[in-house]
Amino acid sequence: MGEQMKRIFGIDLGTTYSSIAYVDEYGKAVVVPNAENQRVTPSVVFFDGKSIVVGDVAKESAKLYPCEVVSFVKRSMGDPNFAFEYNSKAYRAEEISSYIIRKLVQDAEYKLGEKISDIVITCPAYFGINEREATRKAGEIAGFNVRQIINEPTAAAIAYGTTEFSESRVVLVYDLGGGTFDITMIDIQPDSIEVICAGGDHNLGGKDWDDRIVTNLVEEFKNKTGIEEDILEDPDTCQDLQLSAEKSKKIMSQREKTPISITHGGERVKVELKREKFEEITRDLIERTIALTHEILKEAAKKGYKRFDEIILVGGSTRMPQVVDRIKEEFSIEPKMFDPDEAVAKGAAIYGWKLSLNDGLIKRIAKRTSKSLDQIYDDLESTPEDIVKEVVQQMADDTGYTLPYLERSMVKIKDVASKSFGVVVRNQHNEELVFNLILRNTALPVDAKKHFYTAIPDQKTVLIRIMENESSAETVQAENSIEIGTAILNLPTGLPVDLPIEISFKMNPEGRLQINAVETSELRTVAVAIETKSFIQGEEFEEAKTRSQSLVIH
Ligand code: AMP
Repeated sequence: MGEQMKRIFGIDLGTTYSSIAYVDEYGKAVVVPNAENQRVTPSVVFFDGKSIVVGDVAKESAKLYPCEVVSFVKRSMGDPNFAFEYNSKAYRAEEISSYIIRKLVQDAEYKLGEKISDIVITCPAYFGINEREATRKAGEIAGFNVRQIINEPTAAAIAYGTTEFSESRVVLVYDLGGGTFDITMIDIQPDSIEVICAGGDHNLGGKDWDDRIVTNLVEEFKNKTGIEEDILEDPDTCQDLQLSAEKSKKIMSQREKTPISITHGGERVKVELKREKFEEITRDLIERTIALTHEILKEAAKKGYKRFDEIILVGGSTRMPQVVDRIKEEFSIEPKMFDPDEAVAKGAAIYGWKLSLNDGLIKRIAKRTSKSLDQIYDDLESTPEDIVKEVVQQMADDTGYTLPYLERSMVKIKDVASKSFGVVVRNQHNEELVFNLILRNTALPVDAKKHFYTAIPDQKTVLIRIMENESSAETVQAENSIEIGTAILNLPTGLPVDLPIEISFKMNPEGRLQINAVETSELRTVAVAIETKSFIQGEEFEEAKTRSQSLVIH
């Protein structure tokens, strides 16, 4: 092999499990096992004095040290009110996630004997702006160059679309993980992978199935012992029940029944949980995924996609046989299980590899056309085809990769806006409403503009309240939106009332939002900085970074 390319690693930062992958020298995406030789690492962090333990040991330690162990932190990404207290210090979700990332990378570096600097991290498709930014910050706190945040179902589709070669097809990705459910329709073409629309529920996942088992076990304990107290108030019992619930759930993916023992306050009760009962107490959870799937199908139909060819299943929870059965029953199609634990990390790795090839390509095009790297990055599409061909050939010669292989890496990947984004306006009745400039499921990148008007003469500032919501309508009640940040536009003095101010929302292919305002009296464009408390920034960010990178992670 000729020139070495920089490896960009893919990280699936999951609610319950995380993993890391890369593309090897044969162009194959592979997962790197952790130091304990597991291909997935529990996303559980144990604060053990001066060191941090991540993974299985942390998960097991939850029994003994329930107050020092934190899990499901992904559910609190971008939540300014979340804090995990340890030794009188409050840790945000970004910082705790940075430990998980460090553990994955550190173990991979050791296994592969190379230093890792650049990563791509995945997040659920419906993550809003702040959750995405928080995910990026987690990677940065860990000390890495976060090249991109991509959607988990898109990553799974990339892994699927680049390994299973065939003609064009429309695929539904049903992704039921540990804490989240994503449903995404994707159009896979030989030269592009395009998300049509995405939906889901970020509070629906394997953990909810576990919780139902826990509730059932508590009932059984009450019935068999007559003890009325709430045994879940005892943190040890609670942890114990959670762990046995997950274990028995997994066993029931293979068997019809499983014995479980419940120990609390010196009492020990043995119960047998049957799959039939398990399915009965969790039926509404599956039904919710089916209802959300129908919602997506309706949206897709509006975009002209009235049918789909395949359903692929990703996420560990799709191993539950009832998921497959229910999907088959509802859609009369045999869903395909596709690498449920690893597809996301592998897809992220393939994306990273594409970025790395792209870097090489752009460098060569810049040299060949005597343009700057930025110019080419901004407008790669306008490079004449013959130059692209020539440069790809050059790259094939330099790297040793075959031409078709490099061409395949040039598959275009297009995603959609995960939410609707707008600003607060007042209508003629002086009521606050949200006007959506970008509607959810709009293809990215998108640049949307709208004129607003000054309310009084000589108005000095305009407060732009940036809102995020799930609605597909242009206007939404303010209470059905959440404020994701504010921006202030300063105006020159002496402007008349009703002067048009053009506000534009620009969303890049990755889903990052940039806001510009044009004050039309002077045609002055200002990029407005978004203020938010939803993710770690400034000094707090720097402190977390120093702390995270100086800690020993096991
Ligand atoms: P993911 O977030 O994709 O890693 O999925 C993790 C979730 O899948 C957790 O809730 C696991 O309990 C669940 N899971 C993993 N394996 C199985 C299995 N064999 N049967 C049922 N659920 C499983």
